[in-house]
Amino acid sequence: MTKQTDIKNNEWSVEDSTTLYGISDWSGGYFSISDAGEILVHAPVENDETKEISLMEIVDGLEQRGLQMPVLLRLENLIDERIKVINTAFANAIKVANYKGEYRGAFPIKVNQQNHVVSEIVRFGKKYHHGLEVGSKAELLIALSIISDKESNIICNGYKDAEFIELGLQAQLLGYNCFFVIETPEELPLIIEQSNKMNIEPMIGARVKLSTEVEGHWSKDSGERSLFGLSASQLVEILDELKNTNLLHRFKLLHFHLGSQIPNIRNIRAGILEACRYYIALHKEGAPLGYIDIGGGLAVDYDGTRSTEGHSRNYNIHEYCADIVEAIQESFDQHEIPHPTIISESGRAAVAHTSVLLFNILDVNKFESKNMEINFPEDTPEPVLNLFEVAQNITPKRIQECYNDIMHYRNQSQELFIRGEINLRMRAAVENLYLLGLNKISETLPSLKKVPPELENLQESLSDIYYGNFSIFQSLPDAWAIEQVFPVMPIHRLNEKPTRDAVIADITCDGDGRLDNFVTSEGYSKTIPLHSFDKNKEYYIGVFLVGAYQETLGDLHNLFGDTNIASIRINSDHSFDIVHEFEGDSISDVLSYVEYEPQTLIKIFRQKAESAVKDGIITVAQRQKMLGLFNDSLMGYTYFEK
Ligand SMILES: *Cc1c(COP(=O)(O)O)cnc(C)c1O
Repeated sequence: MTKQTDIKNNEWSVEDSTTLYGISDWSGGYFSISDAGEILVHAPVENDETKEISLMEIVDGLEQRGLQMPVLLRLENLIDERIKVINTAFANAIKVANYKGEYRGAFPIKVNQQNHVVSEIVRFGKKYHHGLEVGSKAELLIALSIISDKESNIICNGYKDAEFIELGLQAQLLGYNCFFVIETPEELPLIIEQSNKMNIEPMIGARVKLSTEVEGHWSKDSGERSLFGLSASQLVEILDELKNTNLLHRFKLLHFHLGSQIPNIRNIRAGILEACRYYIALHKEGAPLGYIDIGGGLAVDYDGTRSTEGHSRNYNIHEYCADIVEAIQESFDQHEIPHPTIISESGRAAVAHTSVLLFNILDVNKFESKNMEINFPEDTPEPVLNLFEVAQNITPKRIQECYNDIMHYRNQSQELFIRGEINLRMRAAVENLYLLGLNKISETLPSLKKVPPELENLQESLSDIYYGNFSIFQSLPDAWAIEQVFPVMPIHRLNEKPTRDAVIADITCDGDGRLDNFVTSEGYSKTIPLHSFDKNKEYYIGVFLVGAYQETLGDLHNLFGDTNIASIRINSDHSFDIVHEFEGDSISDVLSYVEYEPQTLIKIFRQKAESAVKDGIITVAQRQKMLGLFNDSLMGYTYFEK
């Protein structure tokens, strides 16, 4: 932990920042720190080259174009790169193992539904026949309109009504591979009915519920009580129904999904082996199959620890692919069944790295004593004088005793204020002495062999609060809802020593609207080292790896809406293009989401202003000014504007 000293330390280097924030552990090689102390994006460009560009340069470019903070920055080069990485990793594993089947990816739209993201995945992924996984009618409509490659697959999961099924069959009529993955036994009769009506034979898959359970934060999708998938007896029902309706030859795909962010490769291997047993058994029953769909689960190393603890994983993508390919190969070779096409539905691993949330710091609240001149009058009560004494004389040997005394005299002094026996200025002096004493105690803690348990959280409780121009509820919903950890760090000044310990609060008026769990080189910390804040200079923070699941789960707490979004592509000549710009919600937008009609609001306010003119309270010119401001605010950004 850094000391709260504000002294600029010239001994600091960018290497120190690299270590402190653990950037090389979690960045996947896509981010680093430049000699100038700014974060660089490493963007793959044409011809296997990589170009670096500073995030500060991008921020400048966005601000010059009037795109204000907070901004969600999407790096299009990284979208392409991730799709390439997944496909080449499977291709390599297949080649090395001499596996006889192919790999086909399918991006699950729910992980990031934004048009630009899905379109870019499909456009770039075409050469790998990377398809889409859909879980609803709305997502199927996206897939049907965006996919053009007939060799890419569309995998339909989720509950399907007649319309959903009809849409899928239409797609098949157009020549697309559209699989219906059966999640509940009730779906099959509907599928059969629709396909009879349309005279098209459906491509059928089944999702099995594996007994393999996984560890980690998102483990509820696995095991017998998971919400989705067929039990063994339900699978038998499906099998018999398909036999009875002469559709067994259309049973093409076996699907399972153990949950997202699976930290331990052992669970993945166990799941694959169990699924292979199902596949082999179905094959023996006469189902041709040919596709095994292993779902999602490929984890992202958010904290850079490469472990099964926290928000990480104990494997890399190459081990993941090799394990899957080998497990399937071994199982199938024993039974002399042809190797199936492997489908995976990686979402998180495909897009997490591709977005960065950028925001500026608006203000800082410090919990330090001020340089106050205190003149104690004759009649100053004992507790206040005692507090003064203790705060001046903190000694490491009696640290717990000093702490107890400070708390005791502070409480007594507060009582005096409540009883009206000391005035406001004396109360302020008490607060100041209390902070002085605690900060002195906090400064001695690192030199102690053993920190008394009561004082363990002292540093945290004295840390600064940096107010960031963003809403955690809108932009980082998982950080709030499921305590997901994302890497956070300043994007500049990294050649300068960060001298403050801080938590970061957002601008919603909610005690939960804060980031207070950070990844550092020494593990998790409730505070993050930041640079001292100068009101006259912008200070920018980045939250990294936010491309998966964060964009549409966000809500409108305090009516902070969607942020501005900029998608950029970095070019071979180090320049960058803003390929897609999306202005965040205006205040008018968010008001209409909660059933206010902006036009009506204007009308009501205009009437109020008009009657004030009539009553002689304001002039006509004042009325005009008021209405102008009301209108401008409605059209404006929901965040703090410069
Ligand atoms: C959510 C989901 C995925 C995506 O999982 P990731 O761990 O993000 O790759 C894939 N398949 C299904 C069926 C899902 O529900």
